[in-house]
Amino acid sequence: MENTALYRKYRPQTFEEVIGQEHITRALQNQIASGKIGHAYLFTGSRGIGKTSIARIFARAVNCENSQNGSPCGKCSACTRLQNESDINIIEIDAASNNRVDDIRELREKVKFMPVGTKYKVYIIDEVHMLSDSAFNALLKTLEEPPSHVIFILATTEAHKLPATILSRCIRFDFRLVSVKDLTRLLQKVFDSEQIDYDEDALRQIAVAGEGSVRDTLSIADCIVAYADGKVTKEGVMKVLGSTDYDLLVKFFGLLHDKDVGGVLEFVSEVDNSGKNMSVLVKELSRHARNLLICRSCRQANDILNLPDDVFEKYMAQSDLFDERTLISYMQAFGGAENELRYTLSPRLLLETLALSVMTGSSGEDVKKKLKIAAQMGSISPRTVWGKVVLYLKERRLIALHVACGDITDVAISGNDFIINIDDGMMLNLMREGRREIESALRWQGLELNVVINTKNIIKSPCEQDVEKLQKIFGEVLTIKGGKFNGIQ
Ligand SMILES: [Zn+2]
Repeated sequence: MENTALYRKYRPQTFEEVIGQEHITRALQNQIASGKIGHAYLFTGSRGIGKTSIARIFARAVNCENSQNGSPCGKCSACTRLQNESDINIIEIDAASNNRVDDIRELREKVKFMPVGTKYKVYIIDEVHMLSDSAFNALLKTLEEPPSHVIFILATTEAHKLPATILSRCIRFDFRLVSVKDLTRLLQKVFDSEQIDYDEDALRQIAVAGEGSVRDTLSIADCIVAYADGKVTKEGVMKVLGSTDYDLLVKFFGLLHDKDVGGVLEFVSEVDNSGKNMSVLVKELSRHARNLLICRSCRQANDILNLPDDVFEKYMAQSDLFDERTLISYMQAFGGAENELRYTLSPRLLLETLALSVMTGSSGEDVKKKLKIAAQMGSISPRTVWGKVVLYLKERRLIALHVACGDITDVAISGNDFIINIDDGMMLNLMREGRREIESALRWQGLELNVVINTKNIIKSPCEQDVEKLQKIFGEVLTIKGGKFNGIQ
């Protein structure tokens, strides 16, 4: 199935079919019904929530010879004509690719010509904020004295980028994000008419992921239908979206509340091994803190959250465990980590650091500092560093040391230590003697690290490596013995 198939197929054809923008459709219908139509409109709001769809319906409605309460009849000659998307009376311009002054000048020339077979010519200029300054000036001249047979509809996601002179000429409509409830209802209608089998829960999950956009919701639905083998289930949806189960979030916050560090590390390890995207998880943790806050502070919390009843009950119960201040600090900590997560090579260490930070009650600034350290630790690859060390030794003609080091592949960075794991006694002396040279080689790369020669050559598990790193970050607060977590003091 083509990616945008459902969105195109279910594009609304009448004002009544538009969802979530009743405040706009009603106003437009009233204008048409009473014959008080403007010549320039501004439609502003997020992507995929119906700006161009409504603009097209409006273009038909103003031309309809027999409009019903301001809606196009769909039968008259104008309606039939304009149902053809390439009809010359509706002109759609993408300002992103036609943003030069010449484009608008050309438009101004064409504006003079009368419509063919309809009352109005309607210009829909999408992404209008992309126009150049001179193009805006040219457009303004047309907007100041529009011919009576022309209507402009300017659509944009970023109204604040438009010059005040343009804004003041337009009747403005602010589009809203569509609610989860409305999106779920739409999905139900679409799936029913496509005869696709589904779980109720799955629909909600897709609607939530659509984040208020009809287009995104239906595009996601397209992907999921293509992926699903028969029935669309919640599990299938979560697999495609890489999103987290409610239960998982509740479990994680339970561990945070109990200050169960061992449990948290295990949890992160499991999530990491399952191949889940850590950035998505961290975003969801921030949202979970917000949701608990809403549970605590709003009387009709589930009108906002729209959760299934059993999940909502769990959220309510959990929200009792945390006070508002704690939840706000969680929101800030998880919400503020996005940037670090994007650039680190070790998102897992970052998540561990975040979790321990909120458990130890670190302040906002403190969390940032710790994350920075963790991100740096996560971003240095010991093997790459080691490769440069070997190169350095070779260039300085330290032949024996260079050859010996070239044979070693098991190296690690832990805090301020560069650990070289060896199992050969002969190697040990050479390494001890060469330690200073190796440290210079590290310094040459801008790394102030102590060289530690480890003869046991134990390959540590990632979890154990992280425990050591975490202790470096948190210091005395965390007690760790023999690679195992001991407790928070
Ligand atoms: Zn009509």
